[in-house]
Amino acid sequence: CGIVGYVSSLSPDAAGHSALDVVLAGLRRLEYRGYDSAGVALVSEDGELASAKKSGKLQNLLDEIEAHPLPEAMTGIGHTRWATHGGPTDANAHPHLADGGKLGLIHNGIIENFAELKEALLADGVAFASETDTEVAAHQVAKNYRATGDLTEAMRLTAGQLEGAFTLLAVHADEPGKVVASRRNSPLVIGLGEDENFLGSDVAAFIDYTRRAVEIGQDEIVTITPDEVAIIDADGNPVQGTPFEVDWDP
Ligand code: GLU
Repeated sequence: CGIVGYVSSLSPDAAGHSALDVVLAGLRRLEYRGYDSAGVALVSEDGELASAKKSGKLQNLLDEIEAHPLPEAMTGIGHTRWATHGGPTDANAHPHLADGGKLGLIHNGIIENFAELKEALLADGVAFASETDTEVAAHQVAKNYRATGDLTEAMRLTAGQLEGAFTLLAVHADEPGKVVASRRNSPLVIGLGEDENFLGSDVAAFIDYTRRAVEIGQDEIVTITPDEVAIIDADGNPVQGTPFEVDWDP
């Protein structure tokens, strides 16, 4: 339903915020869309992925994080879920983890061929922790990551294997300072900062931090790092996004 992604090379003190602050602020801005669960995944500088997710209001997630604090990080993704496949439970909330907990993925939309992909993954011995279509995408990116060793390429290959409508964001413990994303028939926009960059399902996700944005075309794959935004098409060719200024006031 709502999606936020963030990367920064600054320390939390220099930036004035942590990845968790930015992701939670974005999720609060996206609450207007309605949701039944919320969650975040963070990757720390030293390559550890930590996540928290809860059904119900954002406050439930905040309470969970207060009870079990997450390590400091400047890379993160956040999601508010509107359940389509699997009830609104903690287990079905996003992020979904794969690759032994090293990969975190969030998703807006519906993956139509999830059943056949899940069958193949189950045959590979993959264990599932939820009833969502989304978790299939998480394990599929992990599988492609093991084959390629490159998160962007793993996302590109996965997007080519999925049918349906999706915005996907993924982070990996072995690639701190990076968020990769793809979109098909589902919105995704980049926010440009100084030593930090953002992704959102709409500009509200990062309006508190920047008004410089870049449109992403259909079936394009995006990689953001603190000082670079790279977009490729479904065949892996570099493409230019369309920059614009956000002139809307929250
Ligand atoms: N189909 C996914 C699920 O049910 C994503 C729903 C959404 O867009 O929030 O978990």
